[in-house]
Amino acid sequence: MAKTRVRFAPSPTGFVHIGSLRTALYNYLYARNQGGDFILRIEDTDRERFVEGAVENLISVLEWAGLRPDEGPRWGGACGPYFQSERTETYRHYAQELLKKGYAYYSFDTPADIEAMRARAKAAGNPYAKYNFANRMEMRNSLSLPPAEVEEAIADGTPYAIRLLVPEGRKFEVEDEVRGHVVFDSKEVDDQVLLKSDGYPTYHLANVVDDHLMEITHVIRGEEWLSSVPKHLLLYEYFGWQPPKMAHLPLIFNPDGSKMSKRDIQSLEALPPGKVDPDVASYIRRGYEKSAILNCIALLGWNPGEGDDRQVFSLDELVQEFSLGRINKSAAIFDLKKLNWLNKEHIMRRSPESIAAAVRAMPEAEALGEIDQAYLLGVVGLLHERLHFIGDFWRMAGYFFKDPESYEAEALQKRWSPETAPLLQELSREFEAAGVFAAAEIEQALRTVAERHDLKGSLLIHPLRLAVTGLSVGPGLFELMELLGRETVLRRLTLAIKQVPMILGIG
Ligand code: GLU
Repeated sequence: MAKTRVRFAPSPTGFVHIGSLRTALYNYLYARNQGGDFILRIEDTDRERFVEGAVENLISVLEWAGLRPDEGPRWGGACGPYFQSERTETYRHYAQELLKKGYAYYSFDTPADIEAMRARAKAAGNPYAKYNFANRMEMRNSLSLPPAEVEEAIADGTPYAIRLLVPEGRKFEVEDEVRGHVVFDSKEVDDQVLLKSDGYPTYHLANVVDDHLMEITHVIRGEEWLSSVPKHLLLYEYFGWQPPKMAHLPLIFNPDGSKMSKRDIQSLEALPPGKVDPDVASYIRRGYEKSAILNCIALLGWNPGEGDDRQVFSLDELVQEFSLGRINKSAAIFDLKKLNWLNKEHIMRRSPESIAAAVRAMPEAEALGEIDQAYLLGVVGLLHERLHFIGDFWRMAGYFFKDPESYEAEALQKRWSPETAPLLQELSREFEAAGVFAAAEIEQALRTVAERHDLKGSLLIHPLRLAVTGLSVGPGLFELMELLGRETVLRRLTLAIKQVPMILGIG
């Protein structure tokens, strides 16, 4: 059997859409799962839609995601060049071949002629209003005009396009890997322009020629391309080539069922209700785990199997599990809640060492100077399961590195009474006297003082946490105090006992 070869064939027309990254990911997963090749081909023949910087942006997203192509513009390969704009000679050659065989023809119509034709067709009740067998003989082309006139027009330099000759009354059938048996009727199909008057091919010609020349075995792409299939099948037939297998991926919608659009999105923090941002870069910037983004995108249209409710997958696990047969037909919903949940799950899967390395690389770490690795790992250990983003770390970890500069005002009001300071003073003495300053001994000291005064432990625990961390919530108090160490805790208690009554005006 031929080696599996798949391709991601984006048109660089702007930002990288979630749907685009899904197409890239599924192609990558399928290639790796099958031991095949993953090819990146840039479909940049639509010069009007070309956006400066879009290709670089695309490649940097693929690199960020770790979806490394085996062949592509930056990677080379035996089937290059991988920019379609550098292959125009090839497309012209194949367009000529179709002309010669009578499978394509010249059309000299102006945009206005075509507009007028569509208006006429609609007025006459033809819902398709296509340029095809229904009306091609009324138009200005090499089928309707006498040969001499055609030759003259070409010799004069009259702009022309080359169109695909779609026969009347044909059915085009495909066994799509996702959608099953799909049938198209030639009345739904345009005599597609293959080569434009600027000499550039349209998507359809270039795509089919390249898929053939690049020996693509499976075309995996978004459902929006399904309607192109009949044109492509006809091209394969005309060229006498074997079409690749096809898999059309379900559409992706906002939670409210609408189409994803970047237009009304300001930021991920302030998404309009029911909407999500389609721009992959927004999620990268926000600091989502790469593995969580890829996991979330993988689940947009794919699942590991009936009755298999696993949701959390690394890229390697996805490669292991992926199959075209488990791609859903129905549209997918991209939901930020799911991504947030997956992000936390992926953080939980990370080793403390990798989190420590990540937070060390952040600017906040630099400001702290030398950080002891064992101590940092201790902090990571305490905060790990509370992290929603690795980027939150320093905001949560401040008190492990600096004495509190303030205390949560509302919590102070609620938790600190005139009796608190003398009790904390007493507690300080117990801490000083304790043999070892470890979680169990710290807790024991607290219970001793509470019992001595016949108080509930919580009456001490809350102000103690405030005094030591400045905050009302955080990881296990006794564990974090153990990590801070006796000296730091005693210093902070002395500080709070002095400052808080002044802050509250009860001193
Ligand atoms: N250039 C098309 C796109 O922008 C590729 C469609 C295909 O994969 O055939 O998505």
